[in-house]
Amino acid sequence: MFMWIEEKIEGKRSARIKLDKAPLDARKLTRRGLKYGAWILLALWTGFTLVGYFTPIKELWVSFWSWNLGPWETFWIFFYAAFTYAFAGHMREQVCLYMCPYARFQGVMFDPDTLVITYDPERGEPRGQRKKGVAPQSIGKGDCVDCDICVQVCPTGIDIRDGLQYECIGCAACIDACDAVMAQMNYPKGLIRYTTENALERHWGMKEILAHVVRPRIVIYSLILAGLTLALIWGLANKADLRVNVLRDRAILAREVEGGLIENVYRLQVMNVTEQAHRYTVSVSGLNDIRLEGASSIEVPAVTTKTLPILVRVPLESGQKGAHMIYFDVQAENNSGMAVHEKATFLIP
Ligand code: SF4
Ligand code: SF4
Repeated sequence: MFMWIEEKIEGKRSARIKLDKAPLDARKLTRRGLKYGAWILLALWTGFTLVGYFTPIKELWVSFWSWNLGPWETFWIFFYAAFTYAFAGHMREQVCLYMCPYARFQGVMFDPDTLVITYDPERGEPRGQRKKGVAPQSIGKGDCVDCDICVQVCPTGIDIRDGLQYECIGCAACIDACDAVMAQMNYPKGLIRYTTENALERHWGMKEILAHVVRPRIVIYSLILAGLTLALIWGLANKADLRVNVLRDRAILAREVEGGLIENVYRLQVMNVTEQAHRYTVSVSGLNDIRLEGASSIEVPAVTTKTLPILVRVPLESGQKGAHMIYFDVQAENNSGMAVHEKATFLIP
């Protein structure tokens, strides 16, 4: 998208090189201003949508325009936007070369039947310059006219004629450039093309390449990918709308209160992960005559966690001395399906 904006505002590569060399006049200033302005807006949008994963995006939108963002929201929007701007606007393939781990492990995933962008040395060599329309055989050369255009267009600056290199980001710019040269020379296209090591060596066509697609590593990778996709779908389908953690108050283990009752103190961490506010009611079970003392419901705004202190009391004769399992049920008042059953330990001294 950054490159698309650049091309729309400043034109194609040759026009951009010209603009780079041109003196800083009103036209250059306008184009540069427009480009950087559009990049900044797009970068801010990526920061905004990232933060929108963690905070309700409609409220974030209102807060953004009324300049009422929280400190973390402000930090992450601008931090992420700054990195998007730097990476996509200015660093680009430097990120692919020096920061992205993919280039480092792609070699492990390749085998002789992997489709990669390759120069055909058998057809291209010996390379050499010649006039347009001269048949390669007539001068004892291959199809490569040694114009270096494939190197000039390569964003990472490599020469694909030296073989597959980890710097190649598979952008295919060299394929298009070389095909244009081949067309000008009236030679067949595809001196640089998508092919495999085996296909080059054994002169296979597309039919044989396709016949070698199904092989053990492809099956294993596909199964892993299918497994991950299923796990993601399952995770999304079973995403809990409500999560509850029961934390014991470590300062007060168990104490006797008025009426001969035993009291344990807990803190219930209630996480509402929906986009709407909900009121939840809490009940407790697991021992005879067990009951809650004090507040037993809590209002939790959208995508927020709140903590509710809970006092649980039982008569002394409800159980023997020691630890007993009890259960908290937390349920949304307006949605019976949104409920959590959590266990905890009750101590009778
Ligand atoms: S663009 Fe094609 S013809 Fe020109 S140097 Fe590269 S491989 Fe050779
Ligand atoms: S595919 Fe792109 S990165 Fe790879 S050699 Fe060709 S132009 Fe360079």
